[in-house]
Amino acid sequence: MFKTHTWILGFLGLIQATTLYGQPFRVVIDPGHGGPDEGTVFVHGATRLTEKEVTLQLAQRVAQQLLAQGIQVTLTRTTDQEVTLPRRTALANQLGADVFISIHMNSTHDSSLTEAEGVETYILNSTSDALSKRLARLENSVISQPTESPEQMDVALILKDLRLDANLSESKRLACSIQKSLVAATSKRPLFTKRNRGVKQALFHVLLGADMPSILVEAGFLSSPRDRALVTSPEGQTKMSQAIAQAVAEFQHRKNMKSRFAFNRCKVN
Ligand SMILES: [Zn+2]
Repeated sequence: MFKTHTWILGFLGLIQATTLYGQPFRVVIDPGHGGPDEGTVFVHGATRLTEKEVTLQLAQRVAQQLLAQGIQVTLTRTTDQEVTLPRRTALANQLGADVFISIHMNSTHDSSLTEAEGVETYILNSTSDALSKRLARLENSVISQPTESPEQMDVALILKDLRLDANLSESKRLACSIQKSLVAATSKRPLFTKRNRGVKQALFHVLLGADMPSILVEAGFLSSPRDRALVTSPEGQTKMSQAIAQAVAEFQHRKNMKSRFAFNRCKVN
């Protein structure tokens, strides 16, 4: 009896770690920036904190958490190195990844937003929101990247449109799952918190080439003391990486009714 029970549990575990087609579920985690491209930088006195180091630490912790769940993980960079935006998704496509997650940190120097803190998660789409546009412009401006002309980018976007429909709703589901999980893990009262900055859309070049559900998470503001404390402490990093890994697991188990309910209530701004 005991043996049968163990066998059934083992079998269920095996199903859990595989997709419907029997392939292992594979996630590509993309720590934003790297090398000479530091991303946003917080400087105060002797303190200097760069987005590229925070995203790498978070990505490595997320990878550990996912591996512990039997999910295969690849990082687009494991050191402080420069990786062009197209190479990041090209790697995910090459590996046939099921999910692509780009991790970034936000910041603001706008005096009206000095209190800004919290999490926002993006999917690739056009937007009319000025702040989302501004953020996308910042994240797209990578140093020494072989840049494409605006016309080339438009062509790329049109081509992407052809593939977008298939991935858009799944990207939204992934984004909603990650947003909800990260906000819950980093807020005392998740339902009423200003830390929930929502699921949004913008034209992030790093998501452009992805052939799978893909999202970009702005995991916090380097300009916010609270967010800095979270992303630089081992406890905060563990909380956040667990939250992202749990959200991926929830996304993977598509038939989870709770997840579907949350998805139906999740708005993209
Ligand atoms: Zn960034």
